Amino acid sequence: MCSGFETNAVHAGYAAGEHAHAGVPPIYMSAAFDMESAARGDALSAGAEDGFSYSRVANPTVDVLERRLAALEGGRSAVAVASGMAAVSFALLCAAEGGGGIIAPKTLYGASVDAMASFFPQFGVHTDFVECINDLAEVESLIGPDTRAVFAESVANPSTEVTDVAGLAELAHRHGVPLIIDNTVPTPYLFRPIRWGADVVVHSTTKGISGHGNTLGGVVVDAGRFDWASPRFPQFTRTETVVSDDRSGVWHSFASRFGADAYIRRLRIKYVRTFGAVESPFNAYLQLLGLETLPVRIRQQTRSAAAVARHLRTVPHVRDVRYSGLALADPDGVDAHQAQLVRRLFPDGVGGVLSFELDGDRAHIERVLDAVRVFTYIPNIGDSRSLIVDPARITHREVPADFRAAAGVTDNLIRLSIGLEDVDDLIADLDQAIQRAYGEP
Ligand SMILES: *Cc1c(COP(=O)(O)O)cnc(C)c1O
Repeated sequence: MCSGFETNAVHAGYAAGEHAHAGVPPIYMSAAFDMESAARGDALSAGAEDGFSYSRVANPTVDVLERRLAALEGGRSAVAVASGMAAVSFALLCAAEGGGGIIAPKTLYGASVDAMASFFPQFGVHTDFVECINDLAEVESLIGPDTRAVFAESVANPSTEVTDVAGLAELAHRHGVPLIIDNTVPTPYLFRPIRWGADVVVHSTTKGISGHGNTLGGVVVDAGRFDWASPRFPQFTRTETVVSDDRSGVWHSFASRFGADAYIRRLRIKYVRTFGAVESPFNAYLQLLGLETLPVRIRQQTRSAAAVARHLRTVPHVRDVRYSGLALADPDGVDAHQAQLVRRLFPDGVGGVLSFELDGDRAHIERVLDAVRVFTYIPNIGDSRSLIVDPARITHREVPADFRAAAGVTDNLIRLSIGLEDVDDLIADLDQAIQRAYGEP
């Protein structure tokens, strides 16, 4: 198999000989598949033979994407779903279903905060939120008998604060708890959580992985190392008809049937098959296309983001430029612990998202948003276009005030997602917009 990241981004998970020798992975727009014979139908349905029978469970185009993303993250297997929120929800519920608890920082993505704080409790899954996920003593003090996962984002959005994935993994494992990491912001090109001990990685593939703002998707990648058969996770050791053969009196649990694949199989067979948030073959195709250029795109976006951040530090009316990636080139003003984590875990940078505050009031923010010409006012990240947004009113609107404060989302904050345009044009665009906002010619 392949080994280098760039090689895997183009080739992993695809064997042309299995697909009429097509050079590019084909789009299998087929709801269901011919099972060919009674014997094969029986084997497919029993899970004794891997293959395709119905696209709500698995599809050949989506399968290539799953294999490629598992390879890029250094995982054992993956399940692709219809959006990042489906990936976050399924990954957390699969671990914590049936009365479990999750420990997570207040700085999570807005919809994740809303789900965990006010929606998952309706299903009996609660979350203890910490102010700072890198305060390992605070995290440890919250681990109890019903804790089923520690969940964090590798790089927080919009602050770009990085998470001590290595420290958290060691701590969680000492207590028999898995670490689940949302790795959307840096993408696997800049950071691979499994290498640092994470057990499960989720992405919104809508963002940098697709890279062109033209599709929604999500993925759950399983390292295949965590022991889900422990008594902390009764859902994996309970026998279930769906993985058994009750006619022959052979009973199985997900753990006894699938071993190291118990978690990812349960996620596919219970969550995707039941809630039905499947990735479409066409969207999987777009994500495979995006992945081919992931390394070159992320390299350029990260370089440009650092240049924009350095420039913004010199611009009048701009205060507090937040870009932890500055720790690599220009560490003055980056918190010392953050700088140390960035140098150790993110030697190639933290990606294309950054944020800054303007002095003044709401009117100044609105004027900047209305005056930009190259940046587009779009609530997304990881696009080939450069995007600008005011998080307090848009992306973090549903987030309670104390969570916004913990995430540093003040009313005067502007977030940028740096695209692939000429960086000089991006800097000139911000300069003219800020000058116009303050009535300076
Ligand atoms: C966008 C995003 C999500 C949600 O992804 P969707 O594809 O919009 O559902 C989850 N986590 C992070 C960090 C994100 O940026």
